[in-house]
Amino acid sequence: MGKLTNFKRSLWVFHASGGSCNACDIEIIAALTPRYDVERFGIKLVGSPRHADVLLVTGAIPRDFADKLRRIYEQMPDPKAVVVIGCCGTSGGVFYDSYNIAGPIDEIIPVDVYVPGCPPRPEAIIDGVVKAWLKIEKLEKELEGKKG
Ligand code: SF4
Repeated sequence: MGKLTNFKRSLWVFHASGGSCNACDIEIIAALTPRYDVERFGIKLVGSPRHADVLLVTGAIPRDFADKLRRIYEQMPDPKAVVVIGCCGTSGGVFYDSYNIAGPIDEIIPVDVYVPGCPPRPEAIIDGVVKAWLKIEKLEKELEGKKG
């Protein structure tokens, strides 16, 4: 993974929770509290996927949420990245093979970064967001090259 050398702009993040137990969601909120204060780096939670660069997804995805998750992803402008927070979204976690689960998130939408843990610590979530940021910067450079 490359090194983030310059922040050209802030990074806006939308958070979607599927069938989460809420512990992963609480760890995301913890990353925003004064102890970690990710907003000082320009990482900000937004209320609409239409304004977001990065989608954070928590929890296993129930069947009736799979289409909603696809629509959330499709509403995000390019370039964009998806970060799965926690084992539930990666593999199903404690809900693995449940009749009501649509499958791992990467079978529903493309995933760029996996943050393991149950729940992962805020430091790991911040690391996952920075990895997504690197990917977006790379995609932006590729798009600029094509315009060229
Ligand atoms: S990974 Fe663990 S903490 Fe996160 S939603 Fe699943 S059960 Fe809860």
